[in-house]
Amino acid sequence: MKIRSNKLRDIKTFFEQELQSLYSLEELRFYFYWCCKVFANLTKVEVISHPEHTVSESVLLKFNFAVKDLLLQKPIHYIVECCEFCDLTLKVTPDVLIPRPETEELVAWILEDRKCNVDNQHEQYGLDIGTGSGCIALALKKNAPHICMDALDCSEKTLTVAKENAENNALNIRWILADIRAYNTPQMYDVIVSNPPYVRQSERQYMQKNVLAYEPATALFVEDDNPLIFYNAISNFAKTNLTKDGYLYLEINENLSEETCALLAHNHFSNIVVREDFRGKPRMVR
Ligand code: GLN
Repeated sequence: MKIRSNKLRDIKTFFEQELQSLYSLEELRFYFYWCCKVFANLTKVEVISHPEHTVSESVLLKFNFAVKDLLLQKPIHYIVECCEFCDLTLKVTPDVLIPRPETEELVAWILEDRKCNVDNQHEQYGLDIGTGSGCIALALKKNAPHICMDALDCSEKTLTVAKENAENNALNIRWILADIRAYNTPQMYDVIVSNPPYVRQSERQYMQKNVLAYEPATALFVEDDNPLIFYNAISNFAKTNLTKDGYLYLEINENLSEETCALLAHNHFSNIVVREDFRGKPRMVR
């Protein structure tokens, strides 16, 4: 089937007919209006009230590509190249993981705790390890501007996306290109946070096809024989670089919360608290 004309009404019909076997109508409407916003800068209200409005050939082409990509189950975030995270609009490309709502909960936890610390006399320093799109570091900086935020990632391509996100949101972060397994610095931090790769290869079978096909595997997977490899490196780093009253926050594999806590206890962390995510899964540790 082809799009009948350049009118929004026809594009919408095409969009829904082509994709209805794969997505619910509710999802499709949401995707369609999102594409309208990003491809043609039209709001949902504008689209609804002017279905006869025509778009340019180049916009039409973008809708065609979007439908092709959605048929291949490419995540909508990579198609529109953006996502919302903690009130920030962030660019996402296949070089970075699409930020998850669970991670917003981790940020909310840190901010909750930090509010109590705003009156502290000394400047606060924070580090986000494996920053990806920069989502955690940027959301913390935006909501707690008194924290000097550093963000580290081992991929240059990933940091390029994160830097663009910082610029677009006018937020100042110090970026560090390094692998946490081989990183040393004299800098001390009041907050260290990380959402490292934690999905075991054996857990691939439970993951959605579109995640497996499109999201960066290096940001997701660890080997079954050493699933806490990054937690080990992060806690070793935090042992020397966290201030006496500092806190370490981690997103974790829901099936490895006990092992993660045991690792932290072994590394002499105290007052270890686990929190569940909105799905009721143990997902975060402080
Ligand atoms: N929560 C992500 C997922 O379920 C995994 C994130 C990670 O490995 N850090 O796909």
